[in-house]
Amino acid sequence: MKTYAYGFPKLGRNREFKKAVEDFWKGNINESGLLKVLAGIQKENIRLYQEKIDIFPDSGGQVSGYDFMLDTAILFGLYDPKDLKEYYELCRGHNALEMTKWFNTNYHYLVPDFHGLVEHPFRLNKDNPALNLMGGNFPQIIGPFTFLKLSKGIDKNNLRPMFLGLVRVYGQLLSQYHQAQIDEPSFVLELSREEVDLIKEGYEMLAQIGCKITLMTYYDSVDFLNELLNLPVHAIGLDFVRGKDNLKYIQNNGFPDNKTLIAGLVDGRNVWANNIAQSSAILKSLSVKVKQLAVSNAAPLYHLPFSVTLEEGLDSRLKKCLSFAVEKLAEIRLIADSFQGKVAPVYNGLGEYGKNKTVQSRIANLKEADFVKPVPLQDRRIRHNRLLGLPKFPTTTIGSFPQTQELRSKRSSFTKGQIASGDYKNYIQGEIDRLIAFQEKLDLDVLVHGEYERTDMVEFFAQNLDGIATTEHGWIISYGTRVYRPPMIFGDVSRPKPMTIDEIRYAQSKTKKPVKGMLTGAVTIIAWSFCREDIPIGNVAYQISLSLKDEIKDYEQAGIKIVQVDEAAFREKAPIKRRGWPAYFEWAVKSFNLATNTNPDTQIHTHMCYSEFGEIIDYINQMDFDVISIEASRSKGDIIAFFENINFRRQIGLGVWDIHSPAVPPTNKMVDIVRRSLQKIPQENFWLNPDCGLKTRQWPEVRQALANMVAASHALRQ
Ligand code: GLN
Ligand code: ZN
Repeated sequence: MKTYAYGFPKLGRNREFKKAVEDFWKGNINESGLLKVLAGIQKENIRLYQEKIDIFPDSGGQVSGYDFMLDTAILFGLYDPKDLKEYYELCRGHNALEMTKWFNTNYHYLVPDFHGLVEHPFRLNKDNPALNLMGGNFPQIIGPFTFLKLSKGIDKNNLRPMFLGLVRVYGQLLSQYHQAQIDEPSFVLELSREEVDLIKEGYEMLAQIGCKITLMTYYDSVDFLNELLNLPVHAIGLDFVRGKDNLKYIQNNGFPDNKTLIAGLVDGRNVWANNIAQSSAILKSLSVKVKQLAVSNAAPLYHLPFSVTLEEGLDSRLKKCLSFAVEKLAEIRLIADSFQGKVAPVYNGLGEYGKNKTVQSRIANLKEADFVKPVPLQDRRIRHNRLLGLPKFPTTTIGSFPQTQELRSKRSSFTKGQIASGDYKNYIQGEIDRLIAFQEKLDLDVLVHGEYERTDMVEFFAQNLDGIATTEHGWIISYGTRVYRPPMIFGDVSRPKPMTIDEIRYAQSKTKKPVKGMLTGAVTIIAWSFCREDIPIGNVAYQISLSLKDEIKDYEQAGIKIVQVDEAAFREKAPIKRRGWPAYFEWAVKSFNLATNTNPDTQIHTHMCYSEFGEIIDYINQMDFDVISIEASRSKGDIIAFFENINFRRQIGLGVWDIHSPAVPPTNKMVDIVRRSLQKIPQENFWLNPDCGLKTRQWPEVRQALANMVAASHALRQ
């Protein structure tokens, strides 16, 4: 039994990737200094593979200077940066490509743009200086179908010539290698007949080259397995963890004798230890039907942190149940060894660990009425108007404000126990004082406390809830050099004590204007964490929601009249295949309604960003909030049309300032955005706000842009 692995994280044991790239941006190291670090990471990754794995692409995981989709676009001549400086201009700054989510993961890729191209632009551009790391004899490359499917600006009628043009250049590349791994995760999407035919045509052309192709699919099952298995390639990788239908199909129908099946049995998307005995039993069942078989990870390993061994603070019982990228390689080996009878595996499952009877019975006792607000939207509106007395076109912000270096170091000293809790609280209160005064001076209508006590909107709640653990070194890349540490939901979730009340109450005590309570919703907490899988996910969401609900009730006790529950990742967690959406949105919507079903006098806000609203607008409208603030920096017109089409009755805060850019929009631009939308949405339903939190912005921009926003609101009122 051969072992196979791919996609090892490029971040490095100590985030060397991030440091080196950012140093290069700051001018602290030069191009060759950067390449040296990246090559070092690559070498170390190869060493880690070699310890456990028989076959692996030797480009060392996807060590790229920034993003593998951009690299693919360069490799085939769509872009041609002359050095790394130009390469990074495509990644960030004014001329950067648009960024979007990679399938239903937390990784964001740069979207190649074909606008204006009638003919295919492809040519082999392998010597481009940005591709310096593509050494090795066994490359791993994004496949031609996935590449085009995830690009933008390709005319439907133009897809076939584009694809075949790309395939021809792919052929030139493959002719330089004996073997290559081609990743086609887009094969797990719900594809049309024409697309499947195109795939067949393309891969038949590639088969002429003679390079041994390992065709890798992952993240879900493939709907056209019959055709897939007959493609003329050397090996096919299938995800048997998220793609249970793949497994059933092979167990029933077998697999062609002339190819190798790469059985993805080790989860690349979650951190729990593999049940080796069970995996090797699956392998046994497959081996009856499959002549050539290898075992591998089920999805690229870069969705995982580096190694569990770096974690010193974790409970040892929990630690045993965890497996990060390094440990996953060992698991692949163990499954092969166990299959061959060389080892007797032990399984470290979570079992009863983290379970909580009180929480479970609270979930068991939920009634339909817990999910439905007793007072309908329009009646709540009347109450809120009376209680809040807000002007037309009220102005507010999304929650966070710039965090200074001093604040960050105070917070980290506090976490490490180096400064006393009282001193830290005083410091945060000082920041809140200043922010309240700042917002009053600007004449904003609904104020926030600034979220200074939070590192990150999910990690903060994870640290304050029981049943969720956080790591010290469990970093993964969300895009470019931006990293975060997903928490781990290991048990039943509950709130041991109030989490945010002190700060919000304090902020409210400093002003007569309403201060919004700020929470992160259950779906977003789950989406940006690793979640235990043997508790139904809907129940995990309801557990978090009940904790949030208790928090909202405490706000109400403290005199807070407006609460915002952020659901930035509401769309993100949706299954790749649309047919899985109804089941997902059922619990996602209900979890929001459960959390916010408190005193109907409280005005409930939600905030979403990076969402493709059109596709999910009906689900959003089932969330019974009063006000939604959305990211609308891309195309305000389109977004408003979605809301218009469903006769949206709730209030809406259109992001009139794109906070992803340092540019400050003038007042008249903001007024224009609102005016255009007013044809469709009644003016009394309109709020003005930036389109996301201000944590990553600088104070001067914040001051100017918010002043312009307030001026825009005043102009609109008149
Ligand atoms: N309240 C959060 C903030 O302002 C929301 C962040 C987000 O939507 N990503 O930072
Ligand atoms: Zn946002």
